[in-house]
Amino acid sequence: MRFFIGLAILFTGLHSFAYVGMDECWDVNNQPVRIQQTMAIRQAAESTIINGLPTILLHPQMMAQYPQDVQQFIVAHECSHHRQGHVVTHHYGRTLPLTSEFDADCMAVRTMKDLGLLNEYVLQDIQRFLNTLTADATHPAGNHRAQYARQCAQ
Ligand SMILES: [Zn+2]
Repeated sequence: MRFFIGLAILFTGLHSFAYVGMDECWDVNNQPVRIQQTMAIRQAAESTIINGLPTILLHPQMMAQYPQDVQQFIVAHECSHHRQGHVVTHHYGRTLPLTSEFDADCMAVRTMKDLGLLNEYVLQDIQRFLNTLTADATHPAGNHRAQYARQCAQ
């Protein structure tokens, strides 16, 4: 399913990002998902619901550390959490299985492929990024995610 179209350029002070093709995202209930930039999160990106509105929060400085293709993957990954209903499930207090991270990675890679944004170099950038991520209570090990993302790109 194609759920990203167009070109988004988000400006915040001196920082600007172009999430090419990543400006439109709908959640599991077909509500539009908005993107907000904030310094008040401890990671590059986070998905949540604020006042009933599905939202992707991005930390502008942490996002700026990554190449544009990885930024696109991060936004697509967060959108996939909304699209697959993970964000709503979590919001209502239910625990998500670890596989929800694999599923979001997989949908993100396939979305980028559908949009013509994926090639071998991009896939390697995404794998390099995933390999830096450490496992925690809600996230599987980065190297497993990197392997699975490549499988999804086939
Ligand atoms: Zn995730």
